[in-house]
Amino acid sequence: MIIAMTSPPTAPAGNLCPSCSSPVQEDPRFTSWCPACNWNVDLEPAEERHGRSARRHEARRTSDRAVVERLYAEVSDSTDARPRHDKEHLAAITIAGAVHLATLLLAAGSVWLLVAENPWVKFLGLVGLAVTFVVRPRFGRFKRDKWSLSRDEAPRLYDLADRVATEIGAPPIDLIRVTPEFNASYGRTSLSRRSILTIGLPLWELLEPQERVSILGHEFGHARNGDTRRGIWLHSAENALVRLLHITYPGRTSFHSDLTSVIADWVVSVMLFVPYKVTGLVLSLLRRFTLRAGQRAEYLADDLAARVGSSAASRSALATLVLGPSVELALQRMALAPQKGGPVRAGSRDAERQDLWEKLREFVASIPETERLRRFRASALHMTAVDESHPPTHLRVRLAAERPPVDGAIILAEPEITALETEMAPIRARVARAVLTSSF
Ligand SMILES: [Zn+2]
Ligand SMILES: [Zn+2]
Repeated sequence: MIIAMTSPPTAPAGNLCPSCSSPVQEDPRFTSWCPACNWNVDLEPAEERHGRSARRHEARRTSDRAVVERLYAEVSDSTDARPRHDKEHLAAITIAGAVHLATLLLAAGSVWLLVAENPWVKFLGLVGLAVTFVVRPRFGRFKRDKWSLSRDEAPRLYDLADRVATEIGAPPIDLIRVTPEFNASYGRTSLSRRSILTIGLPLWELLEPQERVSILGHEFGHARNGDTRRGIWLHSAENALVRLLHITYPGRTSFHSDLTSVIADWVVSVMLFVPYKVTGLVLSLLRRFTLRAGQRAEYLADDLAARVGSSAASRSALATLVLGPSVELALQRMALAPQKGGPVRAGSRDAERQDLWEKLREFVASIPETERLRRFRASALHMTAVDESHPPTHLRVRLAAERPPVDGAIILAEPEITALETEMAPIRARVARAVLTSSF
C-alpha cells in the first residue's frame, strides 16, 4: 500500500532516466522508473540504518537472499517439492518445544510463588501468571462472521470448492468467507481444527474462471503441502513469542512528568531489555529454521494449483496477484470518489455497485506492461523478508514457467461458469457496498 500511495517522483527531464539516461515511459497514473537500471523501481521507504546496525542488517539480507535462492534452485531441480524433515525442521521443533516448556514452567513457578508469605514474592507470582495468560497457546474459535457463507447460500461455490478439495486430496471445507480484501487464504482453527477458506472478492473478480480454480487449488494445497509452520506445535510457539515480544517492548514513551515516575519507567525499561532481546532472538531463529520448509510448501501448493487449474491459469493468476497494491489503491480511490450531482439516490448507488467490479477490471486491463514489470522487480528486491509466508512472486512465476506444462484436472464448462456468476451476484453487490463505504 505504501508503495503506491507515495507521491509520484519528479518526472525526469525529456523522459530520460536521471541515472543512466535511458528512455523512461510516462504514465501519470503510475510512478516513473527505469527498466534499464532500476532507478525508482521500489518506492517502499527503506528503514534508515547506520554503522553496525546497517552492516548487520545488510549481512542478514544477503544470507536470507542466499537461502531463498538456494531453495529455489533445489525446488526447480526436482519435481518433488514436499517439505523434508531435515536438521532445520528438528531445530524448529526443538525451539518450539523449549518455548512450550518455558510457558509450563512459568505457570508452575508462578503458582508456587503465589503461596509464599512475602507479599512481594506473591506479587511476582501474579505477574508470572499474567504473562502465562498472555502467551498461552491459543487455538482460535470457529465462528461465522458477516463475510461467512453457508452451503445453502452458495451451493455452487461450495460445490466447486469440494471438487478442488477432492482433486487435491484435502478434506471438504467447513466454511467459506468472501471478503472485500485482495487475497485468498486457507486456515484451520479451534481445537477440532475446522477449515476456513477465505476468498477476497477484488482478487476473485479479476481472475478468469480457470485462474479461480487454480487459486482454490493453491489454497487447498495448504491442507496437503505438509507446512509444519501452520501446525499447532510451531504456530502456537511463534504466537507466544510474538506476544512476549510485544509485552516486553522496553521503549514505550513515558507520559509522566514527575521524576519518580520517570525513574520507575526507566527501571522497568532496563529490566525488560534482556527478555525483549532474548525473545526477539529466539523468534528470528524459529522463523529462520522454518523459512525453507514454509517456502517449499508454497511452491508445492503452486504445483497443485497448476494440476487442478492448468499451468497457464496458475501462472496468469500469479501475474494478477502481484498487482495487489495497485488494486487496493484503485479501490480506495473509487470509495473516495466524490459523488457528482448532489445527494446520492439509492438507485444510482445500486448501479455504482454493479459497476465497481467492471471498473476494476477495466483499470487492471489498462495497467501498462512497464508497471507490471516494476511490481515483479520490486518483488525481487523484497525477497529477503524472513517472515514472509510466500516465496517472492517473481520466483513463483519463474518456477511455474519452468515446470512441464499440465492441463487442469478441473475444466469449468460455460453453464457452470454462468450459474456460479448468477449465484455470486448478491454477494458481489454486498462486498461492493462494503468497498464503497470502506466498512471492512
Ligand atoms: Zn536508468
Ligand atoms: Zn499459499
